[in-house]
Amino acid sequence: MGELNLETLKKEFGEAGGKRIVAVEDLDIDIADGEFLILVGPSGCGKSTTLRCIAGLEQPTSGEIVLDGEAVTQRKPKDRNMAMVFQNYALYPHMTARENMAFGLRMTTDLSNDEIDERVVDASEVMDIEDLLEKKPGELSGGQQQRVALGRAIVRDPEVFLMDEPLSNLDAKLRTQMRTELQDLQQRLDVTTIYVTHDQTEAMTMGDRIAILNDGKLQQVGTPSECYQEPENQFVAGFIGSPSMNFFNVKLNDGVLVGDDFQVSVSDNINAELTHAGSEFVMGIRPEEILTQDKASGEDVFTVEINVVEPLGDVTYLYTEIGGSEATISVNRNTEIEPGDEIQISFPQDEIHVFDSQSGDALITRGTPASEDLASEADSSSTRSEA
Ligand code: ATP
Repeated sequence: MGELNLETLKKEFGEAGGKRIVAVEDLDIDIADGEFLILVGPSGCGKSTTLRCIAGLEQPTSGEIVLDGEAVTQRKPKDRNMAMVFQNYALYPHMTARENMAFGLRMTTDLSNDEIDERVVDASEVMDIEDLLEKKPGELSGGQQQRVALGRAIVRDPEVFLMDEPLSNLDAKLRTQMRTELQDLQQRLDVTTIYVTHDQTEAMTMGDRIAILNDGKLQQVGTPSECYQEPENQFVAGFIGSPSMNFFNVKLNDGVLVGDDFQVSVSDNINAELTHAGSEFVMGIRPEEILTQDKASGEDVFTVEINVVEPLGDVTYLYTEIGGSEATISVNRNTEIEPGDEIQISFPQDEIHVFDSQSGDALITRGTPASEDLASEADSSSTRSEA
């Protein structure tokens, strides 16, 4: 078992001037047994501190860490049955891979030498490093060292794996390969895993769910698709997705969202929802949802000049300016658009997100039904599924 609950977890640090830094603020997350949870957010948002509190390397200021129904907050790291994998591998340089993998077991368990050796050999097979067992870290590449570090975590047979940016020292190609391997490994071992990264591509591709932090506060927990399609606030909308969602200031004017250079007519339902909330908003649209040229249609079509064209092979990004804000449009790789071209675009109303301009909270997401009919249908189907 490895069900983990973070209950109102808080960690403050003191500063020289007596000021307190709140690194993690009242974090509540329930992680199911066997789940792969990604903890993501910008530098300094509190990811590592959260992981270190779970591991027992930091003592939380308040709150509880509960493993399988039992509070482990006061337990020493070695008594938590969790194994941590670090970005810098943290292998002992004077020991062979075999000794590095065995060391933790020798120190914290009363397993016999034969039992320890058996576990090391088993883990080395899982990580495909049988040939490296007699080598020291200095003789191994970064990728091989990370395999040994993962092997060292596996031999512990823990209830929870804690991984702090384990792939960020690897080159891009190896990182992509290890990303897939780690996902596969996690599924095979079926061990609850919390994986810290600042890389939103890792967040989107690796885990069952993502928890997004900013300034020590939890912004949203959900599947990658939920966080992408229905971000709960502007921070999540801008953080998840690459290139980022485009944002524009808009005013609601009689069923039409009016920006500096464009407008988007909205449905009666969206108009009613927004009218309750005020008159000035931030509108968001993802680069790939913007319609261009002959696909752009309706009365809200407008013209933009393309400043930069960036072909990436599989897709091409167009950069322009709309109402004084930079905007990115993603188009098919076969586009013939060139810098300086003027093209017609439109923002389809069922792809837009609308945020409160003060709080940043999402008022309309792609999941918001465009009409009353759809809204009542959604209501009755959710009532049906509850029943
Ligand atoms: P990164 O991706 O850069 O590693 P992070 O999201 O992991 O960042 P943390 O390392 O958890 O962020 O830090 C969160 C905040 O707590 C930061 O403001 C950091 O400066 C502060 N902090 C972390 N450790 C300490 C410490 N030991 N003493 C004082 N402040 C700390």
